[in-house]
Amino acid sequence: MTTTVVVDGDEVRRLMAEVSVFGATPAGGLHRLTASRADGEARAWLRAYLTENGFRVLVDAVGNMFGILDLAGPDAPLVLAGSHLDSQPFGGRFDGAYGVVAAAVAVRAAGDAAKDGGRHTCNLGVVNWTNEEGARFAPSLLGSNVFAGKLDAAVGLAARDAAGVTLGEALAEIGFAGTDAAPGNVTHYLEVHIEQGPNLEKAGKRIGVVEGNWGTVKFEAEFVGKAAHTGPTPMAERRDALLPAAELITFVRRLSDETGGALLSSIGRLDVSPNSTNVVPERVRVFVELRDADGERLAAARFRLEEKIVALAQSGIKCELRCVVDRPAGSFNAMLADVIDAAAADCGYPSMRLRTVAGHDAVALSSVLPSAMLFVPSVAGISHNEAEFTRDDDLVAGAEVLAGSLARLAGLQ
Ligand SMILES: [Zn+2]
Repeated sequence: MTTTVVVDGDEVRRLMAEVSVFGATPAGGLHRLTASRADGEARAWLRAYLTENGFRVLVDAVGNMFGILDLAGPDAPLVLAGSHLDSQPFGGRFDGAYGVVAAAVAVRAAGDAAKDGGRHTCNLGVVNWTNEEGARFAPSLLGSNVFAGKLDAAVGLAARDAAGVTLGEALAEIGFAGTDAAPGNVTHYLEVHIEQGPNLEKAGKRIGVVEGNWGTVKFEAEFVGKAAHTGPTPMAERRDALLPAAELITFVRRLSDETGGALLSSIGRLDVSPNSTNVVPERVRVFVELRDADGERLAAARFRLEEKIVALAQSGIKCELRCVVDRPAGSFNAMLADVIDAAAADCGYPSMRLRTVAGHDAVALSSVLPSAMLFVPSVAGISHNEAEFTRDDDLVAGAEVLAGSLARLAGLQ
């Protein structure tokens, strides 16, 4: 039977305003690094909200928070929806936090829907994944990867921030070093997120049904030469580690240009040592990123990068390329994408299919359980920036479509 799912739009707006206070910056952004005091406050706020609204709250060893509505009995399958409360340094208010807020409101709405006479076939839950951003602790997507069995919890807890504090110590400090087991009976995962790009706005669509993720590979290339005085050392005797690094920068850009910009390539960081005006650079680390929707084109670019590194190893300069992230292009669950499409159509919201360039917890989970994402528009595509913004109507629309999708999965529609 079909039941009505009513999402409280005011609740979405109110909760967004409340959660944005924790780590708020004067410029209207958010600085809420993983397991910081602000993160602890946001987590305590979420726990209070969930508890007040009848959710059973669990916190696992890496601080992932689960709020579960036992609608179909304690052993029934569980459908989870959520995102993350941590932010980039001086980032935006919507990245992640919106997905947790929308999930809480949508799960409540889908939970209440059975009061019309329907019967839930599964339990519904909200999740806040620890350290999605990877800004304070590496790697990113830490909590979701531990849940997915792709990262050992002990390894995650031993990750250190720049001050040498481990994630485990930081979680204990804010009271979120949990002892609960993560729920083991999760059958599906849904995540709503701001797009962080301009496509929905440009196309005039309110809902993006995310079909899959781009492939991403990240490398650290290290060049080692020899420090020397920039005055008396003859040019022929210099072993300047910055020179091949400079060639690598233009090469990496060319990899993208040759695909007409389809492959995204960037070098966002250089570490030059000793980085002194009158010392020939001895050691240079270059951080390379390649992203592509097409796995074969990405693999071809990666092969050429590896070849280039070998070619750059000139006499006296050692070169090494280390892959630090290898996230293959992948597809989200097709059935779930159809469910989201149908829920968007029911709400009367125009939608389009797209693929995410950025990494998300749903990407980490999609290899172990059916997962899907939906996007709502980001004004001007701005994200990881204090000016990040999504309109209230779009925030509510995403929560409505999520609630409709959950109701379908719970057998109510
Ligand atoms: Zn995010």
